[in-house]
Amino acid sequence: MIQLPSPVTPYITEATLKFGIQAFVKRDDLIHPFISGNKYRKLKYTMENAKALEKNHLVTLGGAYSNHILATAYAANLFGFTSTGIIRGEELDATQNAVLRHCTKMGMQLIFVDRTAYRDKAALFAQYFGTDTNAYFIDEGGNSDLGCKGVAEMITELPETYDQIWTACGTACTLAGICNGISANNLHTKAVGVAVLKNAEWMMEDMAEYLINSRENIQLLTQYAHNGYAKSSNELLEFIENHNFTHNFKIEPVYTGKLFYAFNQELLKGNIPSGSRVLLVHTGGVFDF
Ligand SMILES: *Cc1c(COP(=O)(O)O)cnc(C)c1O
Repeated sequence: MIQLPSPVTPYITEATLKFGIQAFVKRDDLIHPFISGNKYRKLKYTMENAKALEKNHLVTLGGAYSNHILATAYAANLFGFTSTGIIRGEELDATQNAVLRHCTKMGMQLIFVDRTAYRDKAALFAQYFGTDTNAYFIDEGGNSDLGCKGVAEMITELPETYDQIWTACGTACTLAGICNGISANNLHTKAVGVAVLKNAEWMMEDMAEYLINSRENIQLLTQYAHNGYAKSSNELLEFIENHNFTHNFKIEPVYTGKLFYAFNQELLKGNIPSGSRVLLVHTGGVFDF
């Protein structure tokens, strides 16, 4: 079952109290145990579109630990589609990887391709599904205008307004959706993205493709990647361990750990005005396999 709207809960730490900030968490991690967070939101209108086109086979691609692949496998199963995941990298023993094991359990077919072949997504789709009239292609991460539209809907669920809304960014499609939701609802909220990969200045350019309005009131923080995508640091791991021990919800090192770490650092540096109301979006990615 899909649980929407997701709840908003307070996030109180020594630092939020000391600096006089009211912080909250949008618990999109609770939407579904495996179709988590922004990945469900991105799939919602995408799947509606596939149904409207009478396509019942979802084809997508990603890495062997991709939250999007996992979400697609479960969503396909739940909403009556068959699914194929094109996986980057050498053939893996799917039983050794919890993500792929669960995908297989949901009926997803897996195709493994090397990194060179993986680069040309259109060619891959044509090669395997060019003659399959039932196949519906979903880009990496579920990114598209429809994906972005689903994310924007989050803003209409919010019980109150906030000065800032923060999210972790892998491609910043989610950040763009949040920005679109903010402008569609005529809010003055600032959107803050925390890049989880190194040298991510390109994200501002890439997300522009999805933005309905101008890029005012968006800030991308690129200094909290901790050595790069899916990489970590001792400070980050210590922060996450402490968080998971102290709070009643969990964060992980790839996305949400970096988000909460960045928020706390910016808070301690005095970069968030006292009295601000801040919403942190928990985009999911924490699985109890
Ligand atoms: C995919 C993912 C993101 C990144 O979303 P983008 O739209 O690519 O920026 C953030 N958090 C979690 C948990 C994710 O799975």
